[in-house]
Amino acid sequence: MRKFFPHRTPGWVQNLFPGFIWNKPTDDKVVYLTFDDGPVPQATPVVLDYLSEFNARATFFCVGENVIRYPEVLKQVITQGHSVGNHTHHHLNGWSTPVQDYLQDVEHCQQALNPYLAADFKPMMRPPYGRILPKQWRNLAADYQLVMWDVLSGDFSGRIDATTCLKQSIRFTRPGSIVLFHDSIKTIEKLKAVLPAFLKHFSQRGFSFKQL
Ligand SMILES: [Zn+2]
Repeated sequence: MRKFFPHRTPGWVQNLFPGFIWNKPTDDKVVYLTFDDGPVPQATPVVLDYLSEFNARATFFCVGENVIRYPEVLKQVITQGHSVGNHTHHHLNGWSTPVQDYLQDVEHCQQALNPYLAADFKPMMRPPYGRILPKQWRNLAADYQLVMWDVLSGDFSGRIDATTCLKQSIRFTRPGSIVLFHDSIKTIEKLKAVLPAFLKHFSQRGFSFKQL
């Protein structure tokens, strides 16, 4: 197992990208859970069930292709009071995508999401892998809230098991933290162990879970 896993985004990285939202500093006991890469029928409804059990709201950063493929799953997310954001149409890596192609792909995803959003809502966007070039985000900043995270659960990593994933996610979460999970086929088995335990831990300590 790797000795170091960057569960918490270092302050110096956050300072390099001041235009991004990394967390929402507060003294209130609130945590912002986020789920990337859905909606997919194999994972998203399971996540929704856990959230509803704890009366938790969350934010789902959706891949446009999945929105088109599984509109019923997206509707379920929205009906249950969660927020949705843009995660590009094809889950692109900004570092290896020409600027115009990237912007078009983000727009493509947004078109898929717009019918489900209130007109006055400033769209949220999270770059896949957290990889975006300065030129790309400068072009997006006027139209989107760019949302990153300060706690990386590591649910996607084959190098850490569910117990470590849970322990580290709990350890690094603070009031106002934005925690990154994935509602994907790859992560759902691990999430079945991690997510209810995470929700239980913070609920018992008086935290609530809100959407962005
Ligand atoms: Zn992703």
